[in-house]
Amino acid sequence: MPAKQKFYLTTPIYYTNGLPHIGHTYTTVVADVIRRYKRMRGYEVVMTTGTDEHGVNVERAAKKTGVPESEFVAKMADAWRALWLELGIPADEFVRTTDLQHVRTVQWLFKLCRENGYVYKGHYTGQYCIYDNAFVNDAKPGDNCPDCGRPTETVTEENYFFKLSAFQKPLLDFYKKNPEFIQPESRRNEIVTFVEGGLKDLSITRTTIRWGIPVPGEEPHVFYVWFDALTAYLSAVGGPDYEKRAMWPADLHLVGKDIIRFHTVYWPAFLMAAMLPIPKQVWAHGWFLMDASKMSKSKGNVVLPRPIANMLGMDALRYFLLREVVFGQDGNFSYDALVTRYNSDLANGLGNLASRTAAMIEKNFAGKIPKAGKLEPQDETLARETQTAIGDVLDYFEKLNFARALESLWTVIATADKYLTTEKPWALGDSEADTQRKATVLATTAELLRIVTVLAHPVLPDSTTKIWTLLGQPGSVSAAELDGLRWGQLTTGVPLGKPQTLFPRVEKSEAIERIESMANEERNPTAPPAPAPAVASSATAGAATAAAPAASEKIGIEDFAKVEMRVGQIKTAERIVGADKLLKLTVDIGTEIRQICAGIAQFYEPDSLIGRKVAVVTNLAPRKLRGVESNGMIIAASVGPEGRPVLAGFLEDVEVGARLK
Ligand SMILES: [Zn+2]
Repeated sequence: MPAKQKFYLTTPIYYTNGLPHIGHTYTTVVADVIRRYKRMRGYEVVMTTGTDEHGVNVERAAKKTGVPESEFVAKMADAWRALWLELGIPADEFVRTTDLQHVRTVQWLFKLCRENGYVYKGHYTGQYCIYDNAFVNDAKPGDNCPDCGRPTETVTEENYFFKLSAFQKPLLDFYKKNPEFIQPESRRNEIVTFVEGGLKDLSITRTTIRWGIPVPGEEPHVFYVWFDALTAYLSAVGGPDYEKRAMWPADLHLVGKDIIRFHTVYWPAFLMAAMLPIPKQVWAHGWFLMDASKMSKSKGNVVLPRPIANMLGMDALRYFLLREVVFGQDGNFSYDALVTRYNSDLANGLGNLASRTAAMIEKNFAGKIPKAGKLEPQDETLARETQTAIGDVLDYFEKLNFARALESLWTVIATADKYLTTEKPWALGDSEADTQRKATVLATTAELLRIVTVLAHPVLPDSTTKIWTLLGQPGSVSAAELDGLRWGQLTTGVPLGKPQTLFPRVEKSEAIERIESMANEERNPTAPPAPAPAVASSATAGAATAAAPAASEKIGIEDFAKVEMRVGQIKTAERIVGADKLLKLTVDIGTEIRQICAGIAQFYEPDSLIGRKVAVVTNLAPRKLRGVESNGMIIAASVGPEGRPVLAGFLEDVEVGARLK
């Protein structure tokens, strides 16, 4: 077998002055979709993301929190890495610009550029804010600092400069020879015009910043922003030893449209100067706007990914981000549109088609996909249309036109719905001919569903894995080969898998309220609660300090009397979409009926709880769990190493509302 073709793609190396919001999530999701798609086409793929950890803003943020820079950035990097993992989009290479490998790569690139005559020492003059210890880019004498409002001063410092001016012609030639380099087209024209206007040399070091990569032998010079950050793409796949890893040059840099110039002018120029291979493509995507204004931390309109993933599942967010706007353009983000798409396209569309197809096969063919019998023209039409869609979808994926790819796929789903409505397999009887016809219709629908599942996998990895299992198909959907995908490869006669919860329908206003409530909790985390006094005495209290309450501290009866507990009776119990562990209960506590959430969903069936009498803490302040209000607490024992909850109860009959003392 020939060696696999490689594909190397990157997200930007995100700046660590805050935590990821939906904008960063968008780029990273797109990268993950492309990674999965390319793997299904047989490529060996590496996807890199990371954190840009140097510079004055990090210096300042660290000072504010009172920790050394190295500690501050380590925490940030951990948080970013953990979130990508939680959202199911971890990178193959996570590069930090404080990594030793990266430091070496930047210094090596500088050395190459200098040896080739593209670096010189000069002076940089600019407006400087003494209070913030930073140059204010683009400020003129007399301007105030945009950060603190104080007047700036004109300051001159010694810098190393990169001879960007020498690359005007080489860059223009390169763009001409590689028309695919800058995407989309509109950005390409913008960059060409910019470069045609002339390029100024670029200051690439600073002596006024402390937190940066030192220029070897030239301290106190440190590298400044782009010479450091852009190089991370190369250090992630081997740096000076990039040939061994054989991933460089990058096949695709995904960037926001605000940083396209740095990626398509500075970056190829640095690489040309060092005589290193140049990336094949830079793709600039647009912004998600909230009420038509760009999302930003300072505007406070930032959408967070985690609450959406908790409520609707990560697949729903991925689908929405890719379906809602054409990649490369700006789009509007609204919770309303998100939930509407979830219900219409996922719950009623793909989810419903999968569950009803499986249910009919279960009922009529003992849970095994039947073989199709004689094909009618309408069956053949459906097969032909689906086969055509395969080509269209792959073509759209290849052009990173995800919106159109998904649109084509959902047209196929709609065709299947119409087909079932016309053929009415449920209305057919048990005669030989009817059974044959039923088999053909259900096998045809199952085959269509299999193909949709494979094609949708890069975008909906979790739910398509579930549908694959549901259909009882061999192997895993991620291992399906897109290039060999054809109508007629369905494995029949094998038992269906267990029924799967795919996309439970949600009530729109309730879903939005819960997402917003969870987002508020994440934005304004309440201080961690003070450690509760333990009841049992502890022999390990030796480490306790005078400031912290000793673990063995006992409470007085007056403290215990503050807790009001009553006998309650469970009236209703239901599961909560987006919260696997929680049940939503209504509990009669004698004086009123309360809504209480309890973390017992994995151990108690909702129906088994109705009528059960439980011990309830009734004077706990109401709080929200996963966005659902909980007014009280049910007492349970925590058993075993996993803390399995066992509800406290009464051996004799007790009156509802009776106080526990
Ligand atoms: Zn300032």
